[in-house]
Amino acid sequence: MIARLRLARQPQVTFPPGNAEKKWMNRRLSALIFAFLFSALATSSGSAEPKCPSLRRWLIAATKNLKNQHLDGIPIKLVKEGDLKPAQMRKMFEPISKLNRTGTHLEKPEFLEIVASRFSDDPEFTPFVNRLRVPYRFKDPSGQTKSPKSTQVMIAHEYGHAVFYATLKKRHPTFYKKMSELHAKLREIEQVTSGIEARQREIEKLLGEVEASATPSKEKMNELATEHAKLRSSLIQASEKEKITHAEYGPYKQLLAPYGEFFADTVVVQAYRDPSIIRRVLDFPGTKNDPSKIALRSRDFSVRHVLDSWDYEEPHVLLGPSRHEVWNRYLSQPELANRPEPLSRVFDAIVSELKARDITAPPLSPAELNRRLMKALENEFERPL
Ligand SMILES: [Zn+2]
Repeated sequence: MIARLRLARQPQVTFPPGNAEKKWMNRRLSALIFAFLFSALATSSGSAEPKCPSLRRWLIAATKNLKNQHLDGIPIKLVKEGDLKPAQMRKMFEPISKLNRTGTHLEKPEFLEIVASRFSDDPEFTPFVNRLRVPYRFKDPSGQTKSPKSTQVMIAHEYGHAVFYATLKKRHPTFYKKMSELHAKLREIEQVTSGIEARQREIEKLLGEVEASATPSKEKMNELATEHAKLRSSLIQASEKEKITHAEYGPYKQLLAPYGEFFADTVVVQAYRDPSIIRRVLDFPGTKNDPSKIALRSRDFSVRHVLDSWDYEEPHVLLGPSRHEVWNRYLSQPELANRPEPLSRVFDAIVSELKARDITAPPLSPAELNRRLMKALENEFERPL
């Protein structure tokens, strides 16, 4: 995530339910009704194609915002939330096309699900399911709405995460496989849990109805109460399983996160050939001692930091000194400007670090992590192009 760059977590901006949001909620409601009617129709007729012409027309209208398309050869499932116009959507994805045109020797994501929303202030990429959630406009920590150009930079950063995972799959398959299996397990537990919770709510409602009836059936109430109790123990089991899986997944995520943020920022800086672009785009009014400002400074590749005393652990900030090193020593060199190799070498330096570090080893200090990455970068860039 690019917006979660603050050292201290800021309260999330919420939108008052204005007309546009109400419209969005109506659409979500329509989508739900549509899904229900569609599945009922498909089941009753044995076909996924509605026979009724008016329902068919309505179905086409309801799915107008959901299209399957391609973007530079990447299959895209585009989910629009809100009322974005096609021209605004195209503009949002320009940097992705630009990045792909540069030729980076890196892997493209196998597919992307892009959820484009007018209302979210927090863009994010969800690995393994390849979901890229991007707002058309987002707000900075001071509540100011940013320009669409800023959104483009944020999309480029999130797309950098997508490239990071796609390339990790090829260059460090064992790490990727383990992490993706654990992630899938967590998703599965989440689905089971929400299924149980939904059934519990249903039972509670039924119990209320039986109780309120003129002749409440004791037998029915006992039956429902027994099912509810059984579900409660299944829920406890699922929560235990979730805790264990989280404990296993956590160290992988923790190890990878600073490298992922470092790489996603490097992709943006290389694509725009501008070491300060992230800081400039995300800057906001406030005092220079604001923790968020310190975080932003660490993402400015033109700023040199004192390595020995570097002790910021937040993933966006941790590799601040390495950001300066990678720009100052390598990416800014004119002979490397238009070559596809630099980003690939940066990635290989990260992989060599991931391979050298044991997942269960005691954590290293932020200064040491930077020192090690700088050395790995030096090894990679020493090789002739
Ligand atoms: Zn990020």
